[in-house]
Amino acid sequence: MAALKQSDLTGLNESLESRSPREILDWAVSMFGKRLAILSAMQQAGSVVCHMASKAGHKLPVLFVDTGVHFPETLETRDRIVREYGLEVISLTPDQTMEQQTAELGILYLTVDGQLKCCDLRKTQPLLKMRGQYDALLGSLRRSDGERRSKTPILAIDRPLNCVRVNLLANFDDEPFRAYLAEHKVIVNPLHHQGYSTIGCSRCTTPVLPDEPKRAGRWRHLGPWAMYCGINPSDMGRPDNDPIELDSDLVDRLLGRKVDFAI
Ligand code: SF4
Repeated sequence: MAALKQSDLTGLNESLESRSPREILDWAVSMFGKRLAILSAMQQAGSVVCHMASKAGHKLPVLFVDTGVHFPETLETRDRIVREYGLEVISLTPDQTMEQQTAELGILYLTVDGQLKCCDLRKTQPLLKMRGQYDALLGSLRRSDGERRSKTPILAIDRPLNCVRVNLLANFDDEPFRAYLAEHKVIVNPLHHQGYSTIGCSRCTTPVLPDEPKRAGRWRHLGPWAMYCGINPSDMGRPDNDPIELDSDLVDRLLGRKVDFAI
């Protein structure tokens, strides 16, 4: 095993900046092989990644954190991804149903501390069960979503999951993103057409007004104290984060010490 830290990826990140999402996808498949999966919340950006992989013939598994309190439209989108894109979706579930959790701990999502606990139990912990299974996860964060996502690196070290996050859509701006959705008739969660710019659990997501920030509908009831969930922590990709440990051969290839790929 060998250590890999965020600063090691600086040069590679710079070279990937000029690549298209599809080129980054192909690079990731050649680099990580079967140790690569897609992480999708069944929002439109995740569907773009799934469509791109399916169209390219990359039968990658899709990890979906099913908190048990998603909108029915989100679950229908998941089922369409399986049916129409031929991808396997692996649903990651919390240990308790929301009913069991509420009976034991109360309605957590109504307070700031409770929200953190609820997101930890229903999102972070289920995802952490995948630790060690994959060296890289393809995500769908886009810088044009603003706020803390505006500085998303293409490759980010995910210390808790001990893997590399590959944000292949990081520099996919709104215009080409919308064009891709339309041109390929990508499966889109119907809630996006009902004013939901981003979509999470039904308890903590509302539509947004046209002049609001895209993420204003997430944890709106908590006001400015709303925190990000644990699936896409905002501190990923910080240069001073602790390193991860990956197979030495993979680290050599990532850092160009052993070149058997082309980008
Ligand atoms: S988004 Fe809301 S309901 Fe979903 S896990 Fe977080 S606090 Fe709980």
